[in-house]
Amino acid sequence: MLDRKKLINQISTERDQAIIDIDDCKDLEVLKKIHSKYFGKDSYLSKTISQIKNYDKKDKIEIGQFSNKVKGEIQNKIKEKELILKNRVFLHEIERDIDVTLSTNNINIGSIHPISQMMDNITDNFKSFGFSIASGPEIETDWFCFQALNMDIHHPARDMQDTFYIEENHILPRTHTSSMQIRTMLKQKPPIRILAPGKVYRNENADSRHSFMFYQYEGLVIDKSTNVSDLKSFLTIALRNIFENDKIEIRFRHSYFPYTEPSFEVDATCILCQGKGCNVCSNKGWIELLGGGMVHPQVLRNVNIDPEIYQGFAFGGGPERLLIVKNMIQDTRYFFENDLRFLNQFKQI
Ligand SMILES: [Zn+2]
Repeated sequence: MLDRKKLINQISTERDQAIIDIDDCKDLEVLKKIHSKYFGKDSYLSKTISQIKNYDKKDKIEIGQFSNKVKGEIQNKIKEKELILKNRVFLHEIERDIDVTLSTNNINIGSIHPISQMMDNITDNFKSFGFSIASGPEIETDWFCFQALNMDIHHPARDMQDTFYIEENHILPRTHTSSMQIRTMLKQKPPIRILAPGKVYRNENADSRHSFMFYQYEGLVIDKSTNVSDLKSFLTIALRNIFENDKIEIRFRHSYFPYTEPSFEVDATCILCQGKGCNVCSNKGWIELLGGGMVHPQVLRNVNIDPEIYQGFAFGGGPERLLIVKNMIQDTRYFFENDLRFLNQFKQI
């Protein structure tokens, strides 16, 4: 039996040899054999550890601790090497499967649809004014879509929005995102600032300015002492931001919506003719962008908000109209025809 010092020297020599073997190893199969060589039943380390019992208590502890330390060092070294060799195999497989000689000229990366780009532009702008984004169901009940917005069952204003009814007078694809006004006011107390973007559906014949499905954004502000000048100044600033043009004129024309009083149509100067009149603006010099107004007191009462304390304004429109004005496009249907010659003009690089 070797004395303690000689035995410890031999274990050190064994460790040094193991490290040389592992460093030289270039193959996972060889690494497995190295593992068996140093940790197998007949390995030097295993045999040494089985003989520790023959030493006295003090030597037993010293030899045992040193053997365990060496075992740990060799095991860690093997794990490190295993990781390196596995990565090498993986990289080799990738290199084998990729043909680096192939041309990359014809890869079409694609881009975000212009309507989505404009919706992002609109939501970013309103978020910067402290609006939060409200989203909700596209299939609505008649109450959320019409009745709560001051349009009873036989209200003539319903004719302004030809509706696809699923069950007569009950379930319908929403005709506007104004239903989100009601959903928000029922669950949130004022002050409220929301923007509800989304898809809406109307039973309309497709022509150059109409489609059975289109996108809308709906804004709602409810607070104490909100008034028409707030609405006008706010929308003027927001629209100029969206058009990135602070010279564009915005005008408010008196109009009628059952859920706002007073109500307005909001127009912008026709960029194409600079207000002189052309076929895009029907020789008016102005292009209609959206509708809005002060929230009707009855709408507030319908959602248990006291109109004597709170007022607010609401507005809504379509991103297509803003795109038409901003980019001087003459036909809304281009946005839905997926003609790449058209869509590529909006590609963001
Ligand atoms: Zn014009």
